[in-house]
Amino acid sequence: MKARSIPLNPMLMKQAPVFDLPVTLISGYLGSGKTRYINRQLLNNSGTRYAVLVNDFGELNIDAQLIESTSAHSVSLSNGCVCCSLAADIAAALEEVAACAHRLDWVLFEASGVADPQRVKQQVLNWPGFQLHNTLTLADACRIQSLVNDKFVGQHIRKQLIEAEQLTFSKTDLVDADEVAALQLWLAQLRASAGQTPHWDPHPRYYSQNLVDKQPWQRSDLERQLQSMDPALLRLKGFVYLQEDLDHQYLLQWLPGQWSLESFGPAREPAVNTLVAITQHPLCGDILSR
Ligand SMILES: [Zn+2]
Repeated sequence: MKARSIPLNPMLMKQAPVFDLPVTLISGYLGSGKTRYINRQLLNNSGTRYAVLVNDFGELNIDAQLIESTSAHSVSLSNGCVCCSLAADIAAALEEVAACAHRLDWVLFEASGVADPQRVKQQVLNWPGFQLHNTLTLADACRIQSLVNDKFVGQHIRKQLIEAEQLTFSKTDLVDADEVAALQLWLAQLRASAGQTPHWDPHPRYYSQNLVDKQPWQRSDLERQLQSMDPALLRLKGFVYLQEDLDHQYLLQWLPGQWSLESFGPAREPAVNTLVAITQHPLCGDILSR
C-alpha cells in the first residue's frame, strides 16, 4: 500500500468542503504597511466580501483594531508568529472562516512582521477549502536597504525578500521616482545573487512587551522619549491618551527613524494606553519610563 499524506485536521476532512476560498497572503517586515494595504483593499472592494486574518506578533491585537472595515469578517491571531507558532490558533481561525465561507468571496491573511512567507504559505496550502491565490510581500521603500544590512535582522529580511513571489514597495510617496527605480534594480540583483535553492535557518527569535496602563501621557514627555528609544526596539505601536486631549485616543506608530502620534477617533471607555513593543532581546525595564 502506498503511503498517503495525513490531513492536518481530520475533523474538517470528514466532510469535504464544497468551497474553495481564494487567499491572498500578505507579508512584510515590521512596519512595512501591511495593515494600510489591507485597509485600502477593503475600501476599494467593489462588492467583494472579505475575511481578514490578522496576525499580531504581540499579545495585544493592535493591527486587528486598525482594520477599518466593519463589513469584513475579521479574525485576530495574536501573541505569536503564524510561521513558527500558533498552529492551533490558525486551525481555529481557518475553521471560523470556513464556517461562513458561503458568505465570503476572498480571504486576506496578514502574516506577522517577523514571519517567513514560505512557511505561512505551507500553513494555508495544507487547509482544505482554501486556495492560495497569491503571496504579496511589502517592503518599506525608505528602510529596506538599511534593514538588509542590519546586523540582527538583515539575514531575515533578505530571506523575506528573496522568498517573495510578488513584491511591492510601500511608502513610495516618501522617496522620489529615481530612488524607486534604483530600489527595483537593487532588489532584482539581490534576488538573482541568492541562487536557486538557498538554505535558510528559522528567523531569529523576537520578543514583545506590553505597556498597558491608565495614566495619560504628557505629550512632550512621550515625544522626547520616542526620539531616543532603546536600540533593541524594532517596533512600537498601539493606542495612548494624552493629558492635553483626553477626548481622543492617539495612535502611536514607531519604527527606528520614523514615528507618528496621531489622533485616532474619540476616547474609548475605559481609556487605557495599550502599546506593544517588539524587541530583538528581552529588556530589563519598561520600554517607556514614567
Ligand atoms: Zn515565525
